[in-house]
Amino acid sequence: MSEKNCLFCKIVAGEIPADIIYESVTTIAFRDINPQAPLHMLIIPRKHIATINDITPQDQEVVGDLYLAARDIASSEGIADEGYRIVMNCNEAAGQTVFHIHMHLLGGRALTWPPG
Ligand code: AMP
Ligand code: ZN
Repeated sequence: MSEKNCLFCKIVAGEIPADIIYESVTTIAFRDINPQAPLHMLIIPRKHIATINDITPQDQEVVGDLYLAARDIASSEGIADEGYRIVMNCNEAAGQTVFHIHMHLLGGRALTWPPG
């Protein structure tokens, strides 16, 4: 379930501190250490899944819960109505640096499109 050398598994296990803002049975969320917007949170499954390519049908509920968490966090952070962006990077070309899937939730400013 958890990977020995995975940074986000260590945050899930409480071995590395994080500014945790949301916890459920399947999911945790914490503030990004290098925020790209006034509000930048990472929403991750407790289960170690390295990339989007590694998601299996058995993970459907776990992955769906990321969206429910995003909805609740956007609401509690006060950006549900003005709007926000969810991003998941997959592998190097997209800029994935931590190989435990995570949803970026960005908000608190106008976000341009297309992204870089
Ligand atoms: P990605 O580039 O999509 O893999 O995103 C990884 C994100 O994790 C980056 O936005 C980093 O700033 C963030 N990050 C790395 N280490 C930590 C940490 N210890 N606590 C919170 N966020 C982190
Ligand atoms: Zn992990």
